[in-house]
Amino acid sequence: MNSTSIEHVDVLILGAGISGIGAAYYLQKMQPGKSFAILEARNEIGGTWDLFRYPGIRSDSDLHTFSYEFKAWENEKAIASADAIMSYLRETVAENGIGKAIRFGHKVISAAWSSEDARWLVQVERLDTGKHLTMTCGWFFCASGYYRYDEGYTPEFPGRERFTGQIVHPQQWPEDLDYRGKRVVIIGSGATAVTLVPAMAETAGHVTMLQRSPTYIVPVPSEDRIANTLPKLIGRDRAYAVTRQKNIAKQRLIWRFCQQYPRAARRLIRHLNAKQLPTGYPVDEHFRPAYNPWDQRLCAVPDADMFKAIRDGRASVVTDQIETFTERGIRLQSGRELEADIIVTATGLNLLAFGGISLSVDGVAVNVAEKVAFKGFLLSDVPNFVYMFGYTNSSWTLKVGLVCEHFCRLLAHMDAHGHSICYPQLPGPMETRPLLEVTSGYVKRAAGQFPHQGSVGPWRTNMEYRIDHKMLREGPVDDDHLRFATSPRADKREPALIA
Ligand SMILES: Cc1cc2nc3c(=O)[nH]c(=O)nc-3n(C[C@H](O)[C@H](O)[C@H](O)COP(=O)(O)OP(=O)(O)OC[C@H]3O[C@@H](n4cnc5c(N)ncnc54)[C@H](O)[C@@H]3O)c2cc1C
Repeated sequence: MNSTSIEHVDVLILGAGISGIGAAYYLQKMQPGKSFAILEARNEIGGTWDLFRYPGIRSDSDLHTFSYEFKAWENEKAIASADAIMSYLRETVAENGIGKAIRFGHKVISAAWSSEDARWLVQVERLDTGKHLTMTCGWFFCASGYYRYDEGYTPEFPGRERFTGQIVHPQQWPEDLDYRGKRVVIIGSGATAVTLVPAMAETAGHVTMLQRSPTYIVPVPSEDRIANTLPKLIGRDRAYAVTRQKNIAKQRLIWRFCQQYPRAARRLIRHLNAKQLPTGYPVDEHFRPAYNPWDQRLCAVPDADMFKAIRDGRASVVTDQIETFTERGIRLQSGRELEADIIVTATGLNLLAFGGISLSVDGVAVNVAEKVAFKGFLLSDVPNFVYMFGYTNSSWTLKVGLVCEHFCRLLAHMDAHGHSICYPQLPGPMETRPLLEVTSGYVKRAAGQFPHQGSVGPWRTNMEYRIDHKMLREGPVDDDHLRFATSPRADKREPALIA
C-alpha cells in the first residue's frame, strides 16, 4: 500500500447529525488551524431528523435548548417538526461552510490506534461503490448517536405471520402508506407512539394505542410566548440567550422536583392528564406508570394533541398484553380482540454504541463495556478518542456545545505543551455503574454494549447541565487523571504504521 495516498486529518468526525455538525462548528471556530473531515454513512445530514419519516415526527424538547447556543432558533414553534429541524441544520451547515468537509456514503468500520504514531488508522467503506479506504487522524470524534440505523427494535409477536393487514415500523415508514379511513393499532407508549397517535388520527378511521404499561405523558405548549415576544423588545440574539437560560432552568427545576418529590410529581402529572380527559375516563388504568417520573424519559405532547384526539373519539388507549396476532388484528390476554387494517410497531430502537465500529489500541481490541467514561466524553485508556452522548433528561444538544468547547481547549492545551497523546487513566479500582441510568427496556437491553461510569468526580457522568457547565466550560482541561504523552513520530505526516 502506498502511504502517500492515505489522507490524514487532525480530527476525524464520525456522523453528520446534530452532534457532528456541532463538533465541526466549534473546531472551525476555536481551532481554525486544525484539519478535519466528517464521515457520514448516509447521503444526508441530520441523522435522526432525516431518518425518521413517520407522520407528525417532531422534537419533544423545546428547540431553544435543543438548537445550538451559537445559532438562534427563530421558528415560532418551540416544539418543532423534523422538517423545521432539518432546515435549521442545513442553514447551520451552509452559513459555516461545513458542507465541504462532509463525505457522504462513508461508513466507518474500524479505528485502530497506534501509540507509536499517535494516530488512528480508520477503515471506511464507501457505500456507493462498496470499496474500502483508509484514513488516519490525530483524534477520532465519535458523533454516531446511540442506535442502529438499519433497523428498529421489534419484539417477537406470536402469530405475526397470520395478520393479513400491513405491519409497519416507524423507523422504516413506507412513503406511500395510505391510512385514510383505516383502523390503526399502534403498539407502544413511548415518544414515537404518542407522536403518531394524534398525527394519524387526523385522517385514519380510528387509532388505538396499545400499551403493555403506561408512560408519563405531559402536555406542553408548542409555542413559547416569551420566546416569541422577547426578540421585538431586546433583539433576536439576546432574546434567544434569555429564553435558553430560562428553559435550561425550567428543565432542571422539573427534573429536580421529580427526583426529590416523586409522589407530588406523580400527583401533578395525573392532575394534568385528568384535566385533558373526558369525565369518568380511567386515568389510572392508562396514564399511571409503575415507576416514578424521570426514572424513564417523560413524553411531551404539544398542546395536549394526543389527549384532544382521545376526547374527540378519534383515538383510544388500551392497556393490555398481546396474546397473539390474528388474521384480523390482535388478540389480547384479556380475551379482547383489536381489529386493525394497519399495525404500527412503535416498539423502540436497537441501541448501538459508537456506530458499531470496532476499536483497538496498539493491536488490542477495545471492549467498550470495560471502559469507564471520563467527564462524559473520553474513555479510560483509549487515547485521542472523544464520544458525544447528550443529555437524556433534557436537550441532548446542551451537552454538545460544552463537550466541543472543552475538547477544543484540550487541543490548545496539548499544542501549548507539545503533547500529541491524551487519555484518562483510572486512579485505581473504582465502583462503576452503567453509563445510561434510565430504566427503559431498550436501554436495559443494550447495557452490556456501552461503557460504564465511575462513582466519583470526573468519572461520574452528569445529567445536569449546570454541573457540566462548571466542569467543562469553566473548569481546567488538565486533570490528575489525564495522561499526556508525545510520540516521536507525531508531527510527521507520513503514517509510519503503514508505510
Ligand atoms: C424519534 C426521535 C426523537 C428524538 N427527539 C429528541 C428531542 O426532542 N430532544 C432530545 O434531546 N433528543 C431527542 N432524541 C434523541 C436524538 O437522537 C438526539 O437528540 C440527537 O438528534 C442525536 O444527534 P447525534 O448527531 O448525536 O446522533 P444522530 O442523530 O443519531 O446522528 C448520528 C449520525 O452518525 C451516522 N453514523 C452512525 N454510525 C456511523 C458509522 N459507522 N459511519 C458513518 N456514519 C455513521 C448516522 O448515519 C447519523 O447520521 C430523539 C431521538 C429520536 C430517535
